[in-house]
Amino acid sequence: MVCTTCGAEIEIAPAPVVEMSAILERDTGFRLTGRHYRFEGTCKSCR
Ligand SMILES: [Zn+2]
Repeated sequence: MVCTTCGAEIEIAPAPVVEMSAILERDTGFRLTGRHYRFEGTCKSCR
C-alpha cells in the first residue's frame, strides 16, 4: 500500500490478496495475469 501523503510503502500480507483475486476471478470470470497490486491511501501517522 502506498501512502499518498508521505509516500510510505507498506507491505501487505500476500494471503488475503491472493484470496481476494481468487474471489474476483470466480465472481467476474476475469483472469488476473499479474500480481501487482497498488492500494493508495493515508497511513496511520498521516491520518
Ligand atoms: Zn503517510
